[in-house]
Amino acid sequence: MKLTTKPRGTNDIGPGEIELWLELEEKIRWVCHAYGYTELRTPIFEHTELFQRGIGETTDIVEKEMYTFIDRGDRSLTLRPEGTAPVVRSYLENKMGAGALPVKLFYYGPMFRYERPQAGRYRQFTQFGLEVLGSADPLLDVEAIVLPMELYKACGLSGFEVEINSIGCPTCRKEYRDKLVAYAEPYNDELCGSCQSRLHRNPLRLLDCKVEKCKEIMENAPSILDYLCGDCKEHFNMVITYLDALDIKYKLNSRLVRGFDYYTRTVFEMTYAGLGSQNAIGGGGRYDGLIEECGGPPTPAVGYAVGVERLLLALKSQNSSDFTSKGPKAYLVHFGGETKLKAAEIAYFLRGQGLWIELDYLDRSVRAQMKAANRLKSENVLVFGEDELSRNAVVVRNMGSGEEKQVNLGDLKQLLITLGADTE
Ligand code: AMP
Repeated sequence: MKLTTKPRGTNDIGPGEIELWLELEEKIRWVCHAYGYTELRTPIFEHTELFQRGIGETTDIVEKEMYTFIDRGDRSLTLRPEGTAPVVRSYLENKMGAGALPVKLFYYGPMFRYERPQAGRYRQFTQFGLEVLGSADPLLDVEAIVLPMELYKACGLSGFEVEINSIGCPTCRKEYRDKLVAYAEPYNDELCGSCQSRLHRNPLRLLDCKVEKCKEIMENAPSILDYLCGDCKEHFNMVITYLDALDIKYKLNSRLVRGFDYYTRTVFEMTYAGLGSQNAIGGGGRYDGLIEECGGPPTPAVGYAVGVERLLLALKSQNSSDFTSKGPKAYLVHFGGETKLKAAEIAYFLRGQGLWIELDYLDRSVRAQMKAANRLKSENVLVFGEDELSRNAVVVRNMGSGEEKQVNLGDLKQLLITLGADTE
């Protein structure tokens, strides 16, 4: 191990990249505000049992992917692999259900899964997620689909697909489960090792196995949509009715089951084809049984999680113009000495107005300073020449239009107006 090498599957997010992240975070807060969601920040690690019970013992995450460790007090703790179980834990611990329902929360932060890293799949990655607890209204399932769509759209992403399914409730799923086992049993020897071991423990997982042979076998498996009970069918029909009324385009996919055991009824996933094999940019569903499973009263709930790295990869692959990083408001070019002193004074003033201002600290030539301004994509360049300074003026060049203006430094309001900065 080299000290200068980061752990496999992790990323540094620094200059040139962090700007996009901050812009995305702003958009997340904007869209959550519109839908009335409040942020909840939970710990990065939780008791291991929360995830074992919450996510399900036979899921890939719990069986193979958790970062679990024993702390010095001999407790088993796990770096959170997802955000829903911690939100549910916090909802119960803080008695949020005693207040006005439904409770609408969002979270944003790192998640950890020991997966095989590849483009779009990391061991530490970031999720933005939303959870609504305390209502079974199908309109909330639809809002959990619409809110992330609004975010994708606000980022300028187009061409993503929405897939939805219903996996019913424990009652109707039991009948379907039996049918599925009966269908798959004769193929047992041809299934992959994982599917063989899950055939009786968690047969629904066979439906989203990525192994070619298993996919082929499951092609003709019975569809869960044919086994939904009356209530689940009605709920799903209402979801579809709302989606149609809002003119949301979606694809029904009766094989969509998702990687967590806590889902009930509606499940959904959004994909972006340009991402190759890791094409899911988010997913979610209803989890009406999880809160009870975690020791609370029966409480219906629904949620969704966006993979932030993948969303940014999708935006980059699309070359989204409204999502490229912007440069400083102005680069102040000086000639050293008195001109640098003046530039420092004006930089101090403009930065005090909240504007991003850059200047040279390496005593470089004017040519090199102009190059630096271009590289940073500076909107304007202010040239502090000796001549202009003797008249207490500066030349402002707009780098987009090439237009130049001399501005008197005795009138700083005029300087702000020339830079296009708000002076109210
Ligand atoms: P999940 O919590 O598995 O439903 O995932 C929700 C979203 O998080 C997925 O659609 C991906 O966009 C993203 N995601 C999940 N696992 C990873 C990972 N290992 N690396 C990067 N993004 C991920």
